[in-house]
Amino acid sequence: MMVVMTPKATEAEIEAVTAKLETTGVHVVVMPGELTTAIGAIGDPEGVAELGLEGMAGVDRVVPISRPYKLASSELSHHEPTVLEIGGRTVGGGSTFCLVAGPCTVESAAQTLEVASAVEQGGASMLRGGAFKPRTSPFAFKGLGVEALEILAEARAATGLPVVTELLDTGHAEAIAEHADVVQIGARNMQNYALLEVAGRLGKPTLLKRGLSSSLDELLQAADYVLKEGNEAVILCERGIRTFETATRFTLDLGAVPWLKLHSHLPVIVDPSHAAGDRRLVEPLSRAAAAVGADGIIVEVHQDPEAALCDGPQALYASDFARYARDVAAHAELLGRSLA
Ligand code: PEP
Ligand code: MN
Repeated sequence: MMVVMTPKATEAEIEAVTAKLETTGVHVVVMPGELTTAIGAIGDPEGVAELGLEGMAGVDRVVPISRPYKLASSELSHHEPTVLEIGGRTVGGGSTFCLVAGPCTVESAAQTLEVASAVEQGGASMLRGGAFKPRTSPFAFKGLGVEALEILAEARAATGLPVVTELLDTGHAEAIAEHADVVQIGARNMQNYALLEVAGRLGKPTLLKRGLSSSLDELLQAADYVLKEGNEAVILCERGIRTFETATRFTLDLGAVPWLKLHSHLPVIVDPSHAAGDRRLVEPLSRAAAAVGADGIIVEVHQDPEAALCDGPQALYASDFARYARDVAAHAELLGRSLA
């Protein structure tokens, strides 16, 4: 951390800041410049943050040097990428590509089993399906709840695919933990810190989606909430953000993928379905995600998208999934990855 003094700061003010920093045990270096003096604090930035230095006489600004996220950072904690083994599928690490596919929402046993079987045969690594759905309107279909979790368990038994489903509310945590292999935190809940802590304590891998209007710094600090509970299995997901552009449902921030890979050790996947909102864009965006180095994709698939209760326009046809998967896998292979 660096404390930059104002050009008019007096020696006494510089000394007062130095003395205050020293109370926390950090190593203090005073650097007089031509115009202003900067004071460097080397050591525990947490204790320093509590000092209220910004309010002291003669202080212009306090500039943090280390990044605000700790456990998710590749800088401070791990240096090796995190590699997860989920039901025999490898996520992260650079040699596999994980294809999570399935309906937006579990609508019935027949629908879910049909889609699950199609995506399994097409090469999917895991099955997705919403049981508790976060809907913009309180009058929209909110999912079948616990009944859907049981259907997902049935689909896992039938196909062998591990199941990814969203934890919407701390009250559902036990039921989700009982049935899910991966606990999804939806974009709308990325900054629901109580929910993140509960997810962290479930002992299951967490798929953390980027918030609709969240920065990558905020995403990694949200990941810290899960990681600090002792859960090291976190997968980050770029799913599109709000921008001035309204042609697509959200703007898929593909630059986020290499940025996150650079600054975090956690696996990164992409959701082209919610970003695009239009199935015609899903395949090109999936190819791009593979090409930019994502560890996988989470994609919506339905056997009859026209009749889907949620997100039909962006769902791939189950009958087209195998061809889609081959096409995306070919792009992942260019980077030395094979389907997980
Ligand atoms: C979903 O995956 O079904 C979903 C609701 O996604 P998001 O939280 O990214 O909107
Ligand atoms: Mn959806």
